[in-house]
Amino acid sequence: MAKHIFVTGGVVSSLGKGLTSASIGLLLERRGLRVRMQKLDPYINVDPGTMSPYQHGEVYVLDDGAETDLDLGHYERFTNSPLSRKSNYTSGRIYQTVIQKERRGEYLGGTVQVVPHVTDEIKNAILDLATPDVDVVITELGGTVGDIEGLPFLEAIRQIPLEIGKHNCLFIHLTLVPYLKAAKEAKTKPTQHSVGQLRQIGIQPDILIVRTERPLGKEACEKIALFCNVERKAVIEEQDKELSIYEVPVGLAENKLDRLVIDKLGLPIGELNLDDWKQLLDRIRNPLKEVTIAVVGKYIEHRDAYKSIYESLSHAGFAHSTRVLIKRIEAEQLETSDPDFALGSIDGLLVPGGFGYRGIEGKIKAIEFARKNGIPYFGICLGMQTAVIEFARNVLGLQDANSTEFESESGNPVICMLEEQRTISDKGGTMRLGAQPCHLKPGTKAAAAYGAEVVMERHRHRYEFNPEYRSRMIEKGMSIAGLSPSGNLVEIIELPNHPWFVAVQFHPEFRSKPLEPHPLFRGFIGAAIERRQKSASGD
Ligand code: GLN
Repeated sequence: MAKHIFVTGGVVSSLGKGLTSASIGLLLERRGLRVRMQKLDPYINVDPGTMSPYQHGEVYVLDDGAETDLDLGHYERFTNSPLSRKSNYTSGRIYQTVIQKERRGEYLGGTVQVVPHVTDEIKNAILDLATPDVDVVITELGGTVGDIEGLPFLEAIRQIPLEIGKHNCLFIHLTLVPYLKAAKEAKTKPTQHSVGQLRQIGIQPDILIVRTERPLGKEACEKIALFCNVERKAVIEEQDKELSIYEVPVGLAENKLDRLVIDKLGLPIGELNLDDWKQLLDRIRNPLKEVTIAVVGKYIEHRDAYKSIYESLSHAGFAHSTRVLIKRIEAEQLETSDPDFALGSIDGLLVPGGFGYRGIEGKIKAIEFARKNGIPYFGICLGMQTAVIEFARNVLGLQDANSTEFESESGNPVICMLEEQRTISDKGGTMRLGAQPCHLKPGTKAAAAYGAEVVMERHRHRYEFNPEYRSRMIEKGMSIAGLSPSGNLVEIIELPNHPWFVAVQFHPEFRSKPLEPHPLFRGFIGAAIERRQKSASGD
């Protein structure tokens, strides 16, 4: 029978609960256990797909097309847990199910209530992952203990040990111990209060993971253990990591978290093997080279809006033993400035996905600069669409070329909506979503990078390359390097007469892992390194 780990957070948000949960998953896998990861988000949106990146950061897309929380990106980068729609639930989705059941009369005249109907639905969502091929289900609860909207979730996880036995469940609570400079002391009171709140609900944490800026010291740990009613050895310190998020699992293993979890759950103890992960950290610590990549986007100041893009760039850097410095550029600002000033010294340009007109002209200007100056270019989703518009305007001479997303009556709609999208009015979950096959054209940079003929990549968009313009673009030197199986949809474009100009309609950033960088990101960084070396040697 599968065991369940519940990860809650206290004191403040943004403690890195997702990273910590993913790290626990990785450590358990590295001890030979089969893990499933899950995130429960207490907000009312049915999924984060309709939220602005300013509100929520990146929307992470899974193979099955589920639009999910960005923590699922950490899960995929750290573990091999297969993820699906079942891996991320929100209050909105839970309530939707309950209300649909009520409308169908399934509650047989009963009064529908938070307890037991909503909590039962939450429990079903959790227990559903505990299939016979799974050893441990790790469920992370979004938000912070004390949030009103989180209460039904806490109540549901409180009930689970009653159903499946306390010995099959483990509660891990992540908190912050701030260091007060004036008092020269680490303060444990917020942690005590947070655990107090959990205990009021009926949950006694088994393990406390304590985020700190400075080493905690024996006394503070003992105090936390005593006041929070946990064993001393179950107070695990997680100090801030300077170098990389990929240090987190190694730090937790040094503090024996994995061993503690295994002992407490009575799981078989396999040997922990982190050799490749430690070698990776060595490579991150000692890069041989450095490149600067400009990311020109619309939500640039939001730390998490392009999370997977930044991670994928770093992964590709690890593979080349190269530190990738990212220059974040607000697209709108480029509209009124000289591109040479912002982009003159970069080694590569990436335009990520996005929605809406703001910043589009700045992106097009940046792409023109990269195309004309032989700077490696990687366009992703909207970054492919803007590359097509740029090519149409400046190479085909179609000055009014545009996407119908930005100009519905464009004289030259080189990017337009798919026929089946035109009648859709609902915004949630209705885009072209999830993994789809892409056939690669032999001899292209994409085919060389992947070393394959057919690949699966994840989509999230409504607009597409307009087939009416395909032959004219090809005549002027564009290569169509990837197509959908029917041959109707353009998935990859390239410029063969450019050192590296590849743009894709899908989102490769959702398939990159630190130890398995995505082939296109790897190719892009390789081209950026080459450019850097050439400019250093004065070529
Ligand atoms: N806005 C564009 C579309 O819907 C691109 C979407 C994206 O970049 N994810 O097609």
